[in-house]
Amino acid sequence: MMLRVYNTLSQKKEIFRPRENKKVNLFVCGPTVYDFSHIGHARTYIAFDMIAKYLKEKGYKVFYLQNITDIDDKIIKRAKEKNITPKQLARKFEKEYYKDMKALGITSVSKYARATDYIQEIINQVKKLIEKGIAYRINDGIYYDITKFKDYGKLSRRTVLQAEDAVSRIDEAKEKRNKGDFCLWKFSKPGEPKWKSPWGWGRPGWHIEDTAITQKHFGYQYDIHGGARDLIFPHHEAEIAQMEAISGKKPMAKYWLHTGFLTVKGKKMSKSLGNFITIREFLKHNSPQILRMLVLKNHYRSPIDYSEKEINQAKKELQRIAELVGKLKDIASSKKKEKKDLGRLKKLIQKTKKDFEKKMDNDFNTPEALAVIFGFVNKINTLISKNKLKKEDAKKILDLFGWFDKILGIGLTKAHYRVRLSENIKLKDLVEKRERLRKERKWKEADKIRERIKKLGYIIEDTKEGPRLKKID
Ligand code: AMP
Repeated sequence: MMLRVYNTLSQKKEIFRPRENKKVNLFVCGPTVYDFSHIGHARTYIAFDMIAKYLKEKGYKVFYLQNITDIDDKIIKRAKEKNITPKQLARKFEKEYYKDMKALGITSVSKYARATDYIQEIINQVKKLIEKGIAYRINDGIYYDITKFKDYGKLSRRTVLQAEDAVSRIDEAKEKRNKGDFCLWKFSKPGEPKWKSPWGWGRPGWHIEDTAITQKHFGYQYDIHGGARDLIFPHHEAEIAQMEAISGKKPMAKYWLHTGFLTVKGKKMSKSLGNFITIREFLKHNSPQILRMLVLKNHYRSPIDYSEKEINQAKKELQRIAELVGKLKDIASSKKKEKKDLGRLKKLIQKTKKDFEKKMDNDFNTPEALAVIFGFVNKINTLISKNKLKKEDAKKILDLFGWFDKILGIGLTKAHYRVRLSENIKLKDLVEKRERLRKERKWKEADKIRERIKKLGYIIEDTKEGPRLKKID
């Protein structure tokens, strides 16, 4: 099946054809490490984790590169406030970022590249831009003249004049030729981190680190560039301007993929608005699978408005799958000898997998892919309620869930809804007592115990394999 992806550059869905048949070089803008990451960041990184994992499942050899911005105005400012060096601050939050990513099951990144490890490559790119007459020097640094690159604005569909209002602090300078010109190399002020360059001591601008890193690992051109949509302008536009001017080759990245924002009451979750929840805080109260579910229930390009209601909905949906997985595990491990019966279900399993892939091939449409899974869950529940599912069938279904989970990472096969009785002595005693009473046909007393179990937060279900507890949400 052909994968189609929406390309911000063409503003169309295109058939995905990497530059070199099965090899995919993917670059996603990483964090600026001056604080803990919030769940808005997580939204973007979970989406690209799913994308990288799906590409791998389709047989592509994916090299997923992410930069770490470890030098920047915000880092310098925060370090000053904390009375530590910018390097100390950046290393601390880089570590915290990796911890968060690990906790969220984000395992697809092949390499994290720190900006400050690429100073020589950055200097080389600035040199090239000066040689070509595109970059110029003023009193506080080296700047890029956006009027010298005729394709400027092609990603964000802006003109040079429209570029004026969107410069970040490092790009501000009175002497600039054009308002939209951006900084490539900033001369350092006393006390600021600095590196030696042919133009004097200084530090890199914001956009140049990414092109220096990608040139080193991928060369001038590569397959996919990703990030959240706020980066389209000016960041990604500037990257194109730098790299394509240096190489004379286009496009720098063949496909540009941008995620929608995680919002709160319609506003982008961000540090500056103060409307954020750190990943750390979120995971104190919720499992990582819940956040992944919340993200993947939505298309990666759509905004997600964060609310308790949305979280509860994601929990409920996971619980539905977890209940089925509990039943499947019981059936799969039952000691009963029975005839194998795969024929009937084999077709359904194959069709479900195909339908899932069809949805994913349509620009990674995870909400529809999840709908395929839920449709399948319903069918299997019906079969179980009619006692029609055999041991081998259950095993195959669990394998399929394992495959879905390799891509989505929502804990489909790890899910248990059965409480291991040994984990909770009180519950265990109660369940056993109720069983004894039932055997003695003391129904009323048995029902009383059922009520006590309910008060402890569990519903008891009687199945062929014995009593089973289900947590009430
Ligand atoms: P930053 O550390 O702010 O440079 O952000 C790192 C990445 O997370 C970038 O790709 C941002 O665009 C993305 N990002 C930041 N806030 C959000 C949000 N609320 N929703 C989705 N992505 C975000």
